[in-house]
Amino acid sequence: MTESGIKVAKFGGSSLADAGQFRKVKAIVEKDPQRRYIIPSAPGRRNREDEKVTDLLYQCYAETVSGGDYRSTLDKIRQRYQEIIDELGLALSLESQFEKIEQAFLEKAGEEYAASRGEYLNGILLADYLGYDFIDPACAVRFDRDGIFEDERTNFFLQECLGKTEHAVIPGFYGADDAGNIHTFSRGGSDVTGAIVARAVQADLYENWTDVPGFLLTDPGIVKDPKKIDVMTFGELRELSYRGATVLHEEAVYPVRREGISIHIRNTNHPEETGTLICSQIRPEDMVPVTGIAGKKNFTAISIAKNRMNAQIGFCKKLLEAFEENQISCEHLPSGIDTISVILSQQEFHSKEQQIMESLHRLLRPDKIEVDDDMALVTVVGKGMRSVCGIASRFFTALGDAGVNIKMIDMGSNEVNCTIGVSNRDFETAIRALYEALAQ
Ligand code: ASP
Repeated sequence: MTESGIKVAKFGGSSLADAGQFRKVKAIVEKDPQRRYIIPSAPGRRNREDEKVTDLLYQCYAETVSGGDYRSTLDKIRQRYQEIIDELGLALSLESQFEKIEQAFLEKAGEEYAASRGEYLNGILLADYLGYDFIDPACAVRFDRDGIFEDERTNFFLQECLGKTEHAVIPGFYGADDAGNIHTFSRGGSDVTGAIVARAVQADLYENWTDVPGFLLTDPGIVKDPKKIDVMTFGELRELSYRGATVLHEEAVYPVRREGISIHIRNTNHPEETGTLICSQIRPEDMVPVTGIAGKKNFTAISIAKNRMNAQIGFCKKLLEAFEENQISCEHLPSGIDTISVILSQQEFHSKEQQIMESLHRLLRPDKIEVDDDMALVTVVGKGMRSVCGIASRFFTALGDAGVNIKMIDMGSNEVNCTIGVSNRDFETAIRALYEALAQ
């Protein structure tokens, strides 16, 4: 791939929460002339007790619509921006913007419009501070009338407008439909804007600046100070995110993955740190056997037994049909010769228990159905597992030594992951034992 010499840098809410953070962002942007397209979130929390501007906007809009006193919330929001402007010594005034916003709130412009103003105002502010052009994504990021994101049309419009500017700030999180109505992505959606801008300008790299060192090997709430993941593939990211590791919005992966653009998670507060690089291919010398360990609690295993199941053509089809007709997705399907189990979310199972059981009995005529309602899933992810001998033995020895009973094992044939089912009460013990055994 030929290099474009462009980096797209997205800065999260905590990276732009106050004037001090804005200064850090400016220093980062100016350090590398390739950082030409910048995506800001709305100002986030300055400390644990603080509120995010986006939350304040939702609140303010709800107060306006219900005819309540919205003014003090609007003032709080105004103050957040004014403090930054004053401390940075900028000549900018957002007063006329606030007048328009208040008017639009009173005219019930919609919740998505309200929420989007956090990024919009922060974009104007950051563009002014950096001396970059301001591009309103309402002109280029396209949604249909029902609020469904339109990727190809967006790419076309973004290419057209970004082609005319060398340096621009494009607020994250929102766009508009053809009639000009504002729509937002789901929460945390500025990550998605960063990815679609990176695609449009064919960036060499999509930098995602946040307030953590990168992806950690496992949940720091369970293992104290886990190691950071230096590099991982998009496939590994997908596995880990699916099992509960969150740093990046899930929808942010597709636009860049398709184009072979890597994502680099960086820490605004420690730009000297290496962060986590997510890319299509890992060089053999960077490969480690275990990239990460993640998991979730509260699954249900339904085990179905039927004599000579293995010889009955179409049995699995009918099994899956039972879940399809109830609109339930199955997580895992470990099987034996005359038994097969289906692992699914406990919450989904409980919401449709009767219907699922009825479908299974009608379609499969099983000899026996057993339900185990106490299962947590723990997944060990690592592309390197495939080429290292003895990982599985370390894996199971560690769990045995920790006294964890394994209820289910499912190893993908591509060996990117190995998932085990344990009792909910063993969840944390299993993660700690696996981390000790595999990550050192
Ligand atoms: N400000 C929005 C939120 O709080 C979007 C974002 O930060 O990415 O969800």
